[in-house]
Amino acid sequence: MSTFTRHHSKGTLLIKGGTMMDPLTGLSMKGGSVFIEDGVIRSVSGPGARPVFSEGYRVYDATGKWVMPAFIDPHVHLREPGFTHKEDFESGTKAALAGGYTTVFAMPNTNPPPDRPERIMQIMDLTREKAYCRVEIVATATLGREGKEPVPLDEFRDLGIKAVSDDGDSISHLDTWRRVLQGCADTGIILTDHPELTTLTRRAPVNDDIAAKFGLPGAPCSGEAGAVAIGSILARETGGRYHAQHVSCELTVKVLEKAMESGLVTAEVTPHHLALTQEILHDKGALAKCSPPLRTGTDRSKVLDAFVRGVIAAIATDHAPHTVDEKSRGLSDAPFGIMGLELAFTSLLRLVRAGELPLSRLIEGMSLAPARLFGLEGRGALAPGYVGDVVIFDPSMEWDVEPPFVSKSSNTPYLGERMTGRVVATIMDGSVVYELS
Ligand SMILES: [Zn+2]
Repeated sequence: MSTFTRHHSKGTLLIKGGTMMDPLTGLSMKGGSVFIEDGVIRSVSGPGARPVFSEGYRVYDATGKWVMPAFIDPHVHLREPGFTHKEDFESGTKAALAGGYTTVFAMPNTNPPPDRPERIMQIMDLTREKAYCRVEIVATATLGREGKEPVPLDEFRDLGIKAVSDDGDSISHLDTWRRVLQGCADTGIILTDHPELTTLTRRAPVNDDIAAKFGLPGAPCSGEAGAVAIGSILARETGGRYHAQHVSCELTVKVLEKAMESGLVTAEVTPHHLALTQEILHDKGALAKCSPPLRTGTDRSKVLDAFVRGVIAAIATDHAPHTVDEKSRGLSDAPFGIMGLELAFTSLLRLVRAGELPLSRLIEGMSLAPARLFGLEGRGALAPGYVGDVVIFDPSMEWDVEPPFVSKSSNTPYLGERMTGRVVATIMDGSVVYELS
């Protein structure tokens, strides 16, 4: 059984003996130590260095393990309020800790959605009562998530909101989309957009390229790339920050390469779009159904290449828990989505071992890159002055992807597979808040 600690104080902790890896300094050092004092990293020292600090702190022996900045996920669905049979703030944030995350951005397609200040404050209260890790509430971009009327972004900013989204949908009315980005320019809030022109995709369950084989309608890449193009144009015109969620197509990468010149456009990619292709639908069925759908091998390799080059900055799980019953309704009728928090890093290590993805870039894309994208000062690095949020990972531990998971859900196409490497502890503010035992 694993141990989770919800109420923690700012701890003082010496982590020693592991391989320390830091995306900020490029450090990769075996046998060093990290000293966290009162929740803040004070020093990262080489092997043999004896930190001269106060007595009485806990020592965590990380020999044989990797020591990295804890992960930050800019895109998860915690399903509360409204859909707590799928997930809630407690189960979802515990799943985050089990995957090495200490910060998650919770998407607003809940019931009710956080689309006005009172509701945002209620949901913030819920996270204070129930969450085990840091939760950034992503508010809706439009009232009721209906795509028609922009939310009061200046009031949202005063509540500490960093990003808005109508995730699940792009903003259907273009004039509204433009007004939202205008508000983003005025407030510094980021529009994190689910790029999908549904007039093109018709919310089809699979990629256009493979649809005929299943006798189903298909979603073309133009639906995604077109939305990113529109978002980018509106960003340039208004000065608002536009972030494209879960990029899946080569065509979208081409749009991004041009659009990012403005300095206003950024993007993320999911672990499943980096690692998997549409062909697995034959075996995995609805467990591999997600939005946008898994694409062709060419799309996958171009998207992976774009991530390695930094055209796509960060990795976001789009953790989308559903019940077993919901996911057993077949490819056509099951809901979109894959659970991601507990499997993200370990599943992507397969790409590292295959020589497709540098380990340093993987770590950066899951820590420092999302911190920088969303303005999380002092987070995402294993360096002095940064917050003492650390993940301890055992790269050789073998385990089977089988329920029960920490999440309430089990909808992953990796179900039944063997993984090598697992998070064994997660540290927040210098306190061990998760330990695998
Ligand atoms: Zn989405």
